[in-house]
Formats: sequence, structure tokens, C-alpha cells
Amino acid sequence: MTELPERRLMLVHAHPDDESINNGATMARHAAEGGHVTLVTCTLGERGEVIPPELRHLSGAALGGHRLGELREAMAALGVTDFRLLGGAGRYSDSGMMGLPDNDDPGCFWQADVDQAAGLLADVILEVRPQVLVTYDDNGGYGHPDHIQAHRVAMRAVELAAARGWDVPKVYWNRVPRSVAEDAFARLERDLPELPFDKSASVGDVPGVVDDERITTAVDGTAYAGAKAAAMRAHATQITVADQPYFVLSNELAQPLFTTEYYELVRGERPAGREDDLFAGVTTGEPS
Ligand SMILES: [Zn+2]
Repeated sequence: MTELPERRLMLVHAHPDDESINNGATMARHAAEGGHVTLVTCTLGERGEVIPPELRHLSGAALGGHRLGELREAMAALGVTDFRLLGGAGRYSDSGMMGLPDNDDPGCFWQADVDQAAGLLADVILEVRPQVLVTYDDNGGYGHPDHIQAHRVAMRAVELAAARGWDVPKVYWNRVPRSVAEDAFARLERDLPELPFDKSASVGDVPGVVDDERITTAVDGTAYAGAKAAAMRAHATQITVADQPYFVLSNELAQPLFTTEYYELVRGERPAGREDDLFAGVTTGEPS
């Protein structure tokens, strides 16, 4: 295998766009600082609602193909070259929102055998040997079946990879501290009249919001705000980004765009204070 950079970050996500919304600034910063970033996306988001009227004819595999192109463009904006679909593009399809008949489709990710999918992800972990892996909490951040399944598969893959020779030292879940979300929505209420959006979402619409004391890590990606916004814009079927740091999904409810990204460490030694780097305390270089 070709030599990889010392710092290796892996992110496991459900659909194209999740990586840019949750971790775009972290990914851009890490790549710019010479680290290796591996994104594993579990589905192509074939059941996503499409925002631009001129693209609304796209659905199913055609939408999946289009979204793969959007993902490619987003990764170029973030400077990330290593991005993969779990098991190859089209292996697992989007499960749709919780409770819909879509959830029963035998090819959808929600119906996937967790151990089998985790085995595929463990292969990637063993190839890349990341010191840091980022995914969602056990509710998938907000209850979407593919996000919950991405969590299960990622956590199981970490166990399988450990048994097969690479024990990922640090695993994080995507988070937003409640106080940060509340402040951002207060600002959004104030700015709303000047925004191209009519209505605001609320704190409850933001995935992964928890009490501040659970946050172990804050990655300041302010310098990469432009890259993150560009990556989010690349996912044009799913996201509309305003000039100000706000965006909407297909529900048209305005949300703040965070350029400091927050995490909760769930594997590895919990730091005494808050870390400002996902690799804090990680010994790089190969074990002798
Ligand atoms: Zn998603």
C-alpha cells in the first residue's frame, strides 16, 4: 500500500451532503494541514427530496447518480480525494424517512445485515488505519433510519477492525452544544428579515444537540468557512446556502451554518478539558 500521511481521519455518513453539513470545516482543515481524510458514505440518498424545480424529475438511481456527482464536487471544494460508497456505489440504497414503506425495501440500508455491512467498513478501516473515526450517535443524530444504521455499522466495524488488527484509538459522535445552537437561532431570528428564507427551523431540528458538558471537542474551522459553504452548495439538490451563514434543506426552514464543529469522544480517554483537535493525545507514526 502507498504510504499515507501520519494523521488519518475517517468519517462515516449516511447520504451525500451529511459530511459537508456536519464536518465540512473539519475535513477541509484536516486536509489542508496535510492529514488524510477518508469519507465513507453508506447510500447515494436516492430518496432525498430535490429542491431545484429543474432537477425534480430526478429520482431513484438517476438521483443517486446525480448526487454522486454533487459529492465529487463537494469533495473537490474540501480538498478531499479519498471518498467511497460503502460496498461500492449502489450496494445499499436510501431507506427514506422513518416509518415509510421505503424502509422495507430489501436493498435499502435499513434492511442491511449490520455485521455484513460492518465487515465491508472494517476492510476500509484496516486499509486506511485511521486514528480518528467520526459518526453519529445511536439515534443517528435525528432518527433517520440510514443515520441510525450508519451509527450501528460504524461502531460494529470499529469492534471488528480491532479484532482484526487495527484498534481505532478515538471515535467521536457529531454534536452541537445546546448553548451554541440556542445562540445561533437567536441570531437567525434577528437576521431572518434579510435572508432569502421565510421561516426558521428550531433547535430541535438540529441533529446531535446535547447539553454543553457532553462536548469534548470543538474544531475551529472559521478559516475554512468558504470551503464548507462551497461544499454544501455543491449538494444543490439538497441544500440552499445563503450568503450569510445560513442554509435551508428541502423543508425550507432556515438553519445556522456552523463553522466551528463539535464532537463527543466516545472511544478513547476522555480529556479533562475541551480539546480543540480531534487528534489530541494521538501518537502518530506506526507502532513498532
Ligand atoms: Zn442524511
